[in-house]
Amino acid sequence: MSASLALDALTKTFDGADHAAVDAVSFSVAPGECLAILGPSGSGKSTVLRSIAGLDVPSSGRILVDGADVAGLAPERRGMAMVFQRPLLFPHLSVLDNVAFAATVAGQSKREARADATQFLELVQLAGFGSRPVTALSGGQEQRVALARALAARPRVLLLDEPFSALDPELRSDMHALLAAIRAQVAPTVVMVTHDRDEAAIVADRVALLKRGRLLQHDVVERLYTRPVSLDVSRLMGGRIELAGVVRDGVHESAIGRVAAPAGETWADGAGVLVVRQEAVQVAAAGASAPEGFVAVDVVVAERRARGPRAELALALTDQAADAPAGSVDGPRLTAEVPASRPLAIGERATALIPRSACTVVAG
Ligand code: ADP
Ligand code: MG
Repeated sequence: MSASLALDALTKTFDGADHAAVDAVSFSVAPGECLAILGPSGSGKSTVLRSIAGLDVPSSGRILVDGADVAGLAPERRGMAMVFQRPLLFPHLSVLDNVAFAATVAGQSKREARADATQFLELVQLAGFGSRPVTALSGGQEQRVALARALAARPRVLLLDEPFSALDPELRSDMHALLAAIRAQVAPTVVMVTHDRDEAAIVADRVALLKRGRLLQHDVVERLYTRPVSLDVSRLMGGRIELAGVVRDGVHESAIGRVAAPAGETWADGAGVLVVRQEAVQVAAAGASAPEGFVAVDVVVAERRARGPRAELALALTDQAADAPAGSVDGPRLTAEVPASRPLAIGERATALIPRSACTVVAG
């Protein structure tokens, strides 16, 4: 039932706009795969999704479903269904008839359409809710009905535009579990827009990261975190550590010293910024030496921020901190996360241990 989807240099410039809302975006999604389109507000995510659905007409480029160009196909002929942030249910219809609506309009008998809709209500774990008015539902339940209605159309591609972002965190994680269960049972190809990288990491197999209409990186989630292709990607994924320096013969040199490229990585000669995830940095006692595969850096705790069960530490390099009062040091810093129970206080000296395998170098 599910189809492959490919975008080939999709571009959309709205009338009167000075730059393209979507600028030559290409990616492909395998049948049954879930792709998250991630990016800040205004980066063109919804425009990509609406173009796929046929709700926006691209300025140029192609959209291929199972290899066939869908240009010229009306939205309802594309074999797609879309769920928006707001569920857009018909308030005068019952839950069941909302789900059965499209099939009824398409000419199926009411009895058949309702029997079919009942199955999809079960799939979204709303069995027994069919006869209720939709006005009696909670936000999370409404969104489940919207999902059931979309799935009842048996889409080859399911399009989701920030479908869970209006829900509170607990409901949102229930919906993530539900989406996983749906994927296990009916395996539609899914494209989901989100501005939340944690959500992208939870639901998606791959992520297409957009900024100002451009595709910055299309990759598995883990690589966006650990192998960003640019400083933009590193920052949009929440990376905090940036060490400006120079690469010579595969070795990066910066304020923390020399770091050789890990096996399988090639770093081009010239100026480059070493990035490494703050989650990968360990904090050991002052004077600790580096275990095999780690770079040890003498630091002093410059700031400490509570993050619930974790604490985030800003670590100034000791060389620069030696004569300055704690917290007043400019210049390169490291960031690390430790359990909140670690008693590392501001002003305390420590050793940051950076795993070489977690380091990558991007253009500045
Ligand atoms: P996102 O979903 O990532 O927040 P959008 O795709 O909605 O971003 O918008 C991308 C850009 O296109 C924004 O600059 C937005 O203002 C512009 N845009 C979106 N829809 C329209 C429209 N119908 N007319 C004009 N400009 C639009
Ligand atoms: Mg949007």
